[in-house]
Amino acid sequence: MDLDARPGTASLTQRLRSMLSWSNGGDAVGTLVRTHRAIHSGADASILRHAYRIAESKHRGQLRKSGEPYITHPLAVAQILAELGMDTTTLVAALLHDTVEDTSYTLQELRRDFGPEVAHLVDGVTKFDKMFYGQDAEAETIRKMIVAAGRDVRVLVIKLADRLHNMRTLDARSHASRQRIARATQDVLVPLCDRLGIQFLKRDLEDAVLFHLEPEAYARIHDHVRHRPHWKEYLEEVTAQARAALRRDKVDADVRPRPRHYYSIWKDTVAGGHQVPFDLPRIAVVVDGPETDCYTALGAIHGLWRPVAGRFKDFIASPKNNLYRSLHTTVIGPGEQPVEVLIRTEAMHRAAEYGIAVYYRFPKATAAQAAADRADELAWLRRVLDWEQETPKATEFLESLRGDLAETQIQVIADGRPVVLPAGATPVDVAYELGTEKGDCCVGAKVNGRYTPLSAPLQEGDVVEIFTADAELGEAGRGPLREWLDFVKSPHAQMQISRWFSDHNEPTITIANKVRLGRAAIGLALRRYSRGLATEEPLRRLATDLGYPDLESLLVSVADRKVAADMLVDRLIAQVDHQPER
Ligand code: MN
Repeated sequence: MDLDARPGTASLTQRLRSMLSWSNGGDAVGTLVRTHRAIHSGADASILRHAYRIAESKHRGQLRKSGEPYITHPLAVAQILAELGMDTTTLVAALLHDTVEDTSYTLQELRRDFGPEVAHLVDGVTKFDKMFYGQDAEAETIRKMIVAAGRDVRVLVIKLADRLHNMRTLDARSHASRQRIARATQDVLVPLCDRLGIQFLKRDLEDAVLFHLEPEAYARIHDHVRHRPHWKEYLEEVTAQARAALRRDKVDADVRPRPRHYYSIWKDTVAGGHQVPFDLPRIAVVVDGPETDCYTALGAIHGLWRPVAGRFKDFIASPKNNLYRSLHTTVIGPGEQPVEVLIRTEAMHRAAEYGIAVYYRFPKATAAQAAADRADELAWLRRVLDWEQETPKATEFLESLRGDLAETQIQVIADGRPVVLPAGATPVDVAYELGTEKGDCCVGAKVNGRYTPLSAPLQEGDVVEIFTADAELGEAGRGPLREWLDFVKSPHAQMQISRWFSDHNEPTITIANKVRLGRAAIGLALRRYSRGLATEEPLRRLATDLGYPDLESLLVSVADRKVAADMLVDRLIAQVDHQPER
């Protein structure tokens, strides 16, 4: 395969250039400083040069599997981060990121020489020793990284750049380790990158994964992209017409072709069952004005070309889970050819491209809204850290993390705020997301205004209301049902429910109390349906129908949470409402 067919060709050239200057004894760190200064003009270059000197002297004599001097790796990682627009501290940490793990340099020395911030970042990406931790080393390392990222998210950004460079240089490794590393990247690092919203890195990571896991598909798509007839001319025509239409409607906007990356083409091709690579022409309209200009631009585009029904999505009004915002539409463009159009403001465009890194790349522009937005963007990380504390075993934690990352997510509204959950999550998941107390005491739910079983899977955008048992039932009446473990989807809810059962080895409640509790639980459930019972007769009949010797046994079962009060009430209502006329 020729060099051009590899992912990240531009950086390959850069790498070759930096190697060249290195071997000439030239200014290897010069490119890095220039890239960094182009984005952050006031940055301190001397600290970067200092970090480079230390890293180079510590790694001296070490070679990568490819035979290159080891220092080319940390330098390339720092270069990726400089292009992403990260701050000086991140680049310093990137240059030093493998020193503690692979050289005689200790964390104490690093802290003394570069301060606690850099030390924290380096420590966050330093692997645990396999000799010491054995089998669990990998899981412990990921867990440590996530915890470190909770204090400073730049740990994850460095890790992503580190992995991207390793993926680009996997050729030197054996087939087996290429497969293993590419798969681990796909399972954990790509979804992490997605959660942080950093498209800038995700595209290259995904293309590198595809290159190693599906080399034939990669080559086929590469061929397709290079030999599309009239593709460039067509996109020029489309952008020119779009520009003219926007000008007519007085929308100030930049229109540019927005090609898909290889992995994205591959996914659409496979998902659509297409034999040849499937890829529609795509343009991005970046408006210069406020958010409302996006809708004006949409009007102009739909006025020019007929929209394809069902393809319009408003991610401005309802942002995706990683807070991605844009309008998406597909129109029938010139020559009856479908064209995809993305419409966004400049701020949305930056956020879509750089995600969490936007705050480092544009510190002035984002200063005002930074605190609140960052809290939102990292809600996912906080949730992971919450259940990290509940999981003593690192391998279990990694398992849950993988699960969480693999799930597609949905967003529902509860307590007036958006709540992000794994697809298929239920009202019980929502209740635990709102708080442990709320989860433990949850007895019923309304979804979009209608009573819904606690086990019913929720849909994107559902409005969920949770009802909890109150003081009437007393302390003993609170607690989850074991059967909830069969349907909850979020690791957080699973852990909270398991924790409740290990904490409560059923204290000594008398039978009389249980009978009272069971009756109260049923009374409460009935009231939620605005129903009451004039006599206990229907309940007695139900107890017999269900095979209980008497009503009291049924009530004890309710108190013990072996039977759901909700289910009983459902049956009672059905029984009363559908009683045949006598
Ligand atoms: Mn590394």
